[in-house]
Amino acid sequence: MTLEIAVEKASASRIGQVDFNNIQFGKIFSDHQFIADFDGEKWTNPRIVPYGNISLSPAISAIHYGQAIFEGMKAFKTEEGAIQLFRPQENWKRLNRSAYRMGMPDIPEEFFMEGLEELLRVDSDWVPATKGSALYLRPFMFATDDYIGVRPSDTYKFIIFSCPVNAYYSQPLKVKAETQYIRAAEGGVGSAKCAGNYGSVMHPTREAQRQGFNQILWLDAKEHKYLEETGTTNIFVRIGDKLITPALGKQTILEGITRDSLIQLSRSWGIEVEERAISIDELVEAYNNGLLKEMFGAGTAATVAQIELVHYQGKDMQLQHLDQWEYYTRLKNTMEGIKTGTSEDPFNWVHKVY
Ligand SMILES: *Cc1c(COP(=O)(O)O)cnc(C)c1O
Repeated sequence: MTLEIAVEKASASRIGQVDFNNIQFGKIFSDHQFIADFDGEKWTNPRIVPYGNISLSPAISAIHYGQAIFEGMKAFKTEEGAIQLFRPQENWKRLNRSAYRMGMPDIPEEFFMEGLEELLRVDSDWVPATKGSALYLRPFMFATDDYIGVRPSDTYKFIIFSCPVNAYYSQPLKVKAETQYIRAAEGGVGSAKCAGNYGSVMHPTREAQRQGFNQILWLDAKEHKYLEETGTTNIFVRIGDKLITPALGKQTILEGITRDSLIQLSRSWGIEVEERAISIDELVEAYNNGLLKEMFGAGTAATVAQIELVHYQGKDMQLQHLDQWEYYTRLKNTMEGIKTGTSEDPFNWVHKVY
């Protein structure tokens, strides 16, 4: 350990009040949070304190101008009682890519990794042991200058808090390919995990949900033609025996760690994976020819979630044989096995916390 983290323990744990078999997602917080401050030059004062409100100026630029970025990850307890994370360094690297794009400072690896690990040690009882349940971790950074001029803030806070979550059982998703609104344009911030990307899709997503869809399938900003992702997951389609996912590189798609893991696993099994532009017309044609066999979203919350229906320009494409999707089932089971410690970990993705 290279970082001195001050620990102030909560006077009493709230854990006894939690029904771990029936957790409301995102509403129950563990006893502690990790906090560090950027003073304009360096990160200082790493500390673990009881979870609770913090006091901030109403002028902080995170609120007014949106310098706010975050990560999402899960810690699992294995059958032996060990705590493990899945590729946490990738979250650290992505947070710093987001920070760079938003004009925010880098967070050093030890603040991210040791903050995370120490918080998990202090709140280890909060990592549920029930199969599929996890402790969801939310590392985030935001601007804290009390100054309303438009310029990058000098000061920032980096915080990690956590929420126990039950296994994510999602119904297969119905998505609407969006032809009016856009999520991200080339040169924009679509590949940064920044707060504004979520704020900007709240309204269109709520509209789509009122029309009976679970999520929006975002199309590219220029032509409304190429698939990008849903608002919270990357996407994969199986056409024939090929697995296809939209390519990164235009800064319009979030670089999902689940996405990268699914690509590596599939290729290691000999499945042909293409990272390339895929148009909605190609999807419709594959559907009409009976070649659109599977479609799924990929992200930390659900790992892999089936997409059973795509709505595009007034027509529904209803995918078939959902209980027989081979790629989906194998990827989901393997990923969950690796994350929870019941499957082999051929790529050394698991990071144990001691
Ligand atoms: C976080 C996120 C994802 C999934 O990323 P993972 O690293 O796999 O959790 C996909 N799309 C968007 C928009 C996201 O914010």
